[in-house]
Amino acid sequence: MLTGNDRNDATYASTSRRRRGCPSTPGCPSRTTGAGPARRLLEASIGGDPAAEVYPEPVEHCAICRWRDLCRERRRTDDDLSLVAGMTTGQRRAMKSVGISTRRGFAGLAVLPQVDRVSQEALERAQRQARLQVASEDDGVMPYEILDPQRDGDGGLVANRGLLALPEPADGDLFFDIEGARYYCEDGREFGLQYLFGVVDTAEADEAGLSRYTQIWAFDPPGEKRAFEELIDFITERRTRHPRT
Ligand code: SF4
Repeated sequence: MLTGNDRNDATYASTSRRRRGCPSTPGCPSRTTGAGPARRLLEASIGGDPAAEVYPEPVEHCAICRWRDLCRERRRTDDDLSLVAGMTTGQRRAMKSVGISTRRGFAGLAVLPQVDRVSQEALERAQRQARLQVASEDDGVMPYEILDPQRDGDGGLVANRGLLALPEPADGDLFFDIEGARYYCEDGREFGLQYLFGVVDTAEADEAGLSRYTQIWAFDPPGEKRAFEELIDFITERRTRHPRT
């Protein structure tokens, strides 16, 4: 027997997966293990359509999902629009609403359709990206386009856009990267962990004569705190030696 809470939880989980485009809803292979009579009764009682197809739109959870290989393969087989680098969910949805669901179909459009709530300029950018990817597959080379810097109405360069947002190079520049595990879990509790802080130090060379790379690892929350402190000490010390860093 389902209680009110059961029903709410199941409804929420189902709705949530549908919103995220997760195929754990009808059409998803996980249904073969997860769907039982109670679920079917529930879906019938709330008016769900068990036969409705839900596309495996990529979501953040895919990174740790057991079905990720299957879903990735499905998108590849379909040449889905999600393969277009940088194309947003809204842009994809808009294109699919007018019948364009493949990357090649999108790349080959002579005229882009007008769609609500998606700028034509953004669509053109996405299409240029799609064309580059298709050309790369067809020709076996990696083509690229250099984008013009953004200019204002008088033709002047717009400050702080694109590469102009970078500061002038300076002695002792540091290049920092951080890697995190969003679904890191301890004692059944899920939270994010920033586990690797990496810094390339242009003022120092390693044994191979390259800019020195320093890595600071964390394996648990106390380690993350220690790593953060270590990083700040590292940067502070370098800035003392190279104030323009
Ligand atoms: S890989 Fe992504 S789309 Fe596929 S079932 Fe998992 S969360 Fe849903």
